[in-house]
Amino acid sequence: MEKFASPGKGNGLRLLRPVKPGELLYRAEPLAYVVTKKRLGGVCERCLSSKKQLLRCSQCKVARYCDAHCQKEAWQDHRRECKCIKSVEPNFPPDSVRLVGRIVFKILGQTPCPSEKLYSFSDLKSNTEDLNEEMKEGLGHLATTLLLYLKVEIHDASQLPPTLDIFQTFAKVTCNSFSISNGEMQGVGVGLYPSMSLLNNSCDPNCVIIFEGPQLHLRSIREIQKGEELTISYVETMMLTSERQQHLKRQYCFECDCLMCHTKSKDADMLAGDEKAWKEAKEVINKMGAPKSKEEWEQVLLMCQTFLRNNSSQLPDTNIYQLKVLDLAMDACINLGLLEEALSYGNRTLEPYRFYYSGFHPLRAVQLMRVAKLQYSQEMFSQALETLKQAYDIMKVTHGTEHSLVHDLMMLKEDCEAGLLSE
Ligand SMILES: [Zn+2]
Ligand SMILES: [Zn+2]
Ligand SMILES: [Zn+2]
Repeated sequence: MEKFASPGKGNGLRLLRPVKPGELLYRAEPLAYVVTKKRLGGVCERCLSSKKQLLRCSQCKVARYCDAHCQKEAWQDHRRECKCIKSVEPNFPPDSVRLVGRIVFKILGQTPCPSEKLYSFSDLKSNTEDLNEEMKEGLGHLATTLLLYLKVEIHDASQLPPTLDIFQTFAKVTCNSFSISNGEMQGVGVGLYPSMSLLNNSCDPNCVIIFEGPQLHLRSIREIQKGEELTISYVETMMLTSERQQHLKRQYCFECDCLMCHTKSKDADMLAGDEKAWKEAKEVINKMGAPKSKEEWEQVLLMCQTFLRNNSSQLPDTNIYQLKVLDLAMDACINLGLLEEALSYGNRTLEPYRFYYSGFHPLRAVQLMRVAKLQYSQEMFSQALETLKQAYDIMKVTHGTEHSLVHDLMMLKEDCEAGLLSE
């Protein structure tokens, strides 16, 4: 792999040899990463696994770990930050502030980071010249928050690394940080992997990024020729072209000119059906916060059921808002233990998922696995095995056979086979 000047896009990454789909092209440890505020307390700060019982840092009482081993491994990154967290209690800094705090300590500690091999933190683009006044004000505010947060460890700005400009650093973090997702593709953390910031966007990319804990894996999902630019998608696939472009412009300061943005190929399908009905669906989705309690999930389910009952004839399941309502109804049922009903919603999502997440897409694999679990719960063993096979065919490319999620899949497969034998 090498860095090169990609026409019109600044730097890019390309390959020195052709590859097939499913090859692991790069493995990177983060320069710095944090658990997102939303997941705080529910995942281990070191390995990012979700667990019910986690050990708590006895100092700040915020950081949590699987066990003494994870805590020990995390100590180098947490040592100075721990005092800062304690000092601002009961407040907790925003993710970007906590992340920049860790970057500051990392630079002061001068620990070399292997993920800076192709591109270093100081090489990263900050795009500050493209920011509007409102954005600049936002970053300035974050810089102030950071200085307050770091105060117990770094008394004034003169003790900061001399090469580090805080405002620039926040600008860099905004357009270069990666959202770290767990096996189920839910966001659990945010991190910086400088070399991987060389990857440019395509809404129809030839590579995918998958995480194993905080470790980033770059994998090919197509055949790629020698010298061809490597691309990933910075944004969710199931978005209208105009929404994708708006998002890319706002967060990354560029206009995407990929083929999908030119042809707007799936936009009409995304909005198929009666306009009044999908606008209502959009409202249902926007009203949802982050349900936690049983009562909140019951409310969510009721809203979804009511919507689906009243509008089912006016919208195809491929309409993205209808599809999101189906997904939400499935989630709610799983949380409430209504597995048979969850399966009926899950089944309806599979065809639209195949359509939008065509080729090798990790989200489709994860959805297939969720449906397979539900089929297993209903003792539909042979159907579950068929669904798992489809999930596996995608995952061996997107995740690789060594990934922990594939390991989970194989365990479920064994359970299904055992179920089939006992029938
Ligand atoms: Zn852990
Ligand atoms: Zn602590
Ligand atoms: Zn595009």
